[in-house]
Amino acid sequence: MEPPRFSLGCMPPGPQRDAEFDTLINGAIKRSIMSFSKLAGFAHDNSCLPAQYERMIAVMYYQLDANKIPRGERREDFDLQQFQIPFVCLTALGVTLPIWLCTEISTKLVKGLTDHWVDIRQWILFLYKEIISQHNVDIDLRLSCKTAVLEFLGLVRDRLLITWSRRITTDRGVMRVICELWFLETRDEQFFTWSSKGANQNQRESAVLNSCFLIAHEMDTTIDWENILGVFRGDTELIASAALRHLDREISQKPLDLRCVGWDMHIVSALSFRENIRLSLLRQGAIKAAADVLWLIVSQKWVGENNKVMAARCMVNAVIFLKVRMEDMDGTPFILQALDTDLIPSLLKCEPLLPFTDNETARQQPILVLGNLLTSYTIYRSVLRAMHPKIDAMGGTQMELNLIKGGQLHSAWLRLKEAVAERCWLMKRDIADGYHIQSCQSEKCARAGETGTLKRCGGCLHAFYCSKACQRYDWKYGKHKPYCRMVHQRYLRTNGQMATVQSKDIRFFDQIIISELRKHRARINTHRLKINVVELDFVGGNVDVIFDSRRVDPNPFGIKCSCERFAHARWVKIVERAKEAKDPVVLVRAYIPGGMSRKILLRVIPLGRVLGEENQDHLWVDETKLRLCLPNHLNLIYTCCGQESMKKDPEGFRG
Ligand SMILES: [Zn+2]
Ligand SMILES: [Zn+2]
Ligand SMILES: [Zn+2]
Repeated sequence: MEPPRFSLGCMPPGPQRDAEFDTLINGAIKRSIMSFSKLAGFAHDNSCLPAQYERMIAVMYYQLDANKIPRGERREDFDLQQFQIPFVCLTALGVTLPIWLCTEISTKLVKGLTDHWVDIRQWILFLYKEIISQHNVDIDLRLSCKTAVLEFLGLVRDRLLITWSRRITTDRGVMRVICELWFLETRDEQFFTWSSKGANQNQRESAVLNSCFLIAHEMDTTIDWENILGVFRGDTELIASAALRHLDREISQKPLDLRCVGWDMHIVSALSFRENIRLSLLRQGAIKAAADVLWLIVSQKWVGENNKVMAARCMVNAVIFLKVRMEDMDGTPFILQALDTDLIPSLLKCEPLLPFTDNETARQQPILVLGNLLTSYTIYRSVLRAMHPKIDAMGGTQMELNLIKGGQLHSAWLRLKEAVAERCWLMKRDIADGYHIQSCQSEKCARAGETGTLKRCGGCLHAFYCSKACQRYDWKYGKHKPYCRMVHQRYLRTNGQMATVQSKDIRFFDQIIISELRKHRARINTHRLKINVVELDFVGGNVDVIFDSRRVDPNPFGIKCSCERFAHARWVKIVERAKEAKDPVVLVRAYIPGGMSRKILLRVIPLGRVLGEENQDHLWVDETKLRLCLPNHLNLIYTCCGQESMKKDPEGFRG
């Protein structure tokens, strides 16, 4: 059986004669479907007066009185006939209210809805519980019921009803129904709405759910996640797979429905703000999914302003998701995953849609990913190796040639290309082995060994020790205990998904740092200082350098997290002890990108090393001598516990 439909457009235009209108109203009160259809048709086509519209919705509210909800009946006996009137009323309200809300009766309409919401709410909860979710109820009835409920709930998308919509987002019962409906669509094939051609898009469950997330975000109300997760029996893998299946199904449609793709992409983003759901999403391939959306959008030609604006919005939402989530964990795991997709060609193809983005912040996103984020991670050898062939493959292609010369995207692309070229050159010319040293974290010891030969602390995975005794000493007296605990909490929070920095990457940092220092050789040399303090910031794509030999700035590039004070305390001591050094030294504090867990490298390097004086090499060969000339060399790595970045809530998403 077909769901009830209105006879749209078959009525003569202009206000109807009062007598005819009265007859229809009376018919509607007496539950005549025909009368309702005609009335709704008038309302939809604007062929009645505001006062007439008010009368007709009064009848709809009357029919949606909570006392009319059937009680004590066997749900197997329910039939479509019996529910036609409430379905028609819910649908008619959902379809016509947005049209009339823009007229002079707007305030009255908002009040009317608010006043009758208590009753309608009961209807919705009843319809979901007793009909939609019941397997033994006739499927046509269930489908019609779902359509009517969603058509009404689509009102949350109306900006003029925002105070009411806000109530929905905090309504545990209704939010549960919305999530159940959204889940049902992926769980049960019969409920896929995209298969019903020409269906009004407001009845998409993803549209409603997405709006609720957006409203909660904008109006600063909290989503009750426990309640939502209850729909999925607390299983974050289940909610993540539902979100990704929604998105996957949308992007396999031909032609693409940009609005649907946008909603689904945004739901994935909204869910990813929940730590546990985010991990499930990432585990199930959310990075690849977002990269696929991006590629699909940018590799099509969109015709018409409207389509271009929608496409640009989808593109930006996918890019923002990637920008934020690629850096999850310790940064590199998901960046490597993203590089495995068409991310780089996609970013090069973003330019034609940039003028259609919503604002400047949105416009900057692809530029930032290419020129800042990806560029900054070329400091990791593992990332560089994966990126290098991708960059090479773009050389001389139409994609590269199409970039507007001198444009921001072009500059970002050049920045990335140059960084890759420069660092690939370094990668091929590995500096002498004696240079890659690592120091025991214990202050009492500070013994050095070749990178990769010391043992990692199993708690934080970033502190290195030469022996159990040194580890125990540092734990007890060297403040490693509080630091390690903070970092270890990240390990627990992320279900053990904390990446270590590979020894090869750490060795490569040494190389990058010395190469950056050598760019400033002349300046360092002219100062003729015994202690040269250099602060390097590799986070963000450009390498920022600060020379400061007089004082120690606690946060030259901003302290990101309270755990960084441990690295700072050590830095202060190193600078202090460097004064005892016999030979001039360069003290380096380098900030390394690491997503939620930025790294800080503390290094003491003999000046001769930086200036490239060959006769300094002897310092690095004999280990006993190394130990004697402390602190002429030191190489420590700290990682952030990721606590601070958890609060980050990126702006710029548009649904
Ligand atoms: Zn530790
Ligand atoms: Zn030691
Ligand atoms: Zn931290």
